[in-house]
Amino acid sequence: MERRLRELDWLDQTYGLGALPPAAPPPRRSSRLSGVIALLVVSGLTVSAVFAMQPQIFPDRVHELLGTTPERLLPARDIPSGPGEFSFMAAQPETGEPVGYDPCEVIEVAINPDGAPDDHRELVETAMQRTSDATGLQFELVGTTRDRDFENMSMDDPVLVMWADEDEAPDLAEDIAGVGGSYRVSGYGGGTQRYVTGFVILDRDAYEDMRSDAMRQAIVDHEFGHLVGLGHVDDPRQLMHEHGGFVTDYGDGDLAGLAELGAIDCS
Ligand SMILES: [Zn+2]
Repeated sequence: MERRLRELDWLDQTYGLGALPPAAPPPRRSSRLSGVIALLVVSGLTVSAVFAMQPQIFPDRVHELLGTTPERLLPARDIPSGPGEFSFMAAQPETGEPVGYDPCEVIEVAINPDGAPDDHRELVETAMQRTSDATGLQFELVGTTRDRDFENMSMDDPVLVMWADEDEAPDLAEDIAGVGGSYRVSGYGGGTQRYVTGFVILDRDAYEDMRSDAMRQAIVDHEFGHLVGLGHVDDPRQLMHEHGGFVTDYGDGDLAGLAELGAIDCS
């Protein structure tokens, strides 16, 4: 299967305990993967890249050939009403609908335990469960991995969760406690984009110092929010506030956005 990075863009996807001014997104550009690395070092931000798929492997084409219709793995969640804000990391170029993961596919997750805290598995499994409960997306922890190359992931890779320092992941500089984001594939159903894999990276030093169990979990949950497509909001009652807000659980705005992300059509 040939994979080629056709274009990429980026958005503010950082989670900070301290202040980090948001950067203006650069214009879309055509680039190969080296462009991803170049962008990553510009500031404490994470990329969301778009892979190009070959037409013969479009999942909808596969279903057409097989005469089958894809079905959701879990029911979509009711979208709660409330005053809370939410935003999305990326919108479909044609319709403006949010970009998300395919709810008919399992989102596989692998943990790199090197440098991770002792309770890393519990932290990740709790985040997976909370995000699944809020979206109706199904996650599966497929095991551990030695992979740490979050800048060069391929479509078939499980979501990579790891703990790192800022030498390895420059996005973790300053007070940034975690970063998260997903790679997009373009080409489903005539240009629709879908996330196919991504990464969550937590700050090793921050987790060594942090004593609040609620905060330790909240940061992983916040990054899983980015992973499935939520962006930051100014509303401090939401976990997707840039600095986590005043809360350690998803707020009403977070939950509304997550439900919408999980309710998109299958590919
Ligand atoms: Zn964030």
